[in-house]
Amino acid sequence: MAYVISDECVGCGACEAECPVSAISESDGKYTIDADTCVDCGACAGVCPVGAPSAE
Ligand code: SF4
Ligand code: SF4
Repeated sequence: MAYVISDECVGCGACEAECPVSAISESDGKYTIDADTCVDCGACAGVCPVGAPSAE
């Protein structure tokens, strides 16, 4: 299980700063979660203004 960021993402970066294990990274304005690093804490979903991260 890991969280994933949907196409709703507007690239604000709030989730990247919030992730306790630095699983979120940005490339070309798109934010993605490394499934092997994510510990399913839900912090990214809690801070996202558009609800883009969700548990798969
Ligand atoms: Fe990081 Fe937690 Fe979001 Fe996984 S659920 S990407 S560990 S903030
Ligand atoms: Fe995208 Fe939401 Fe993360 Fe902002 S907080 S970069 S909108 S997933």
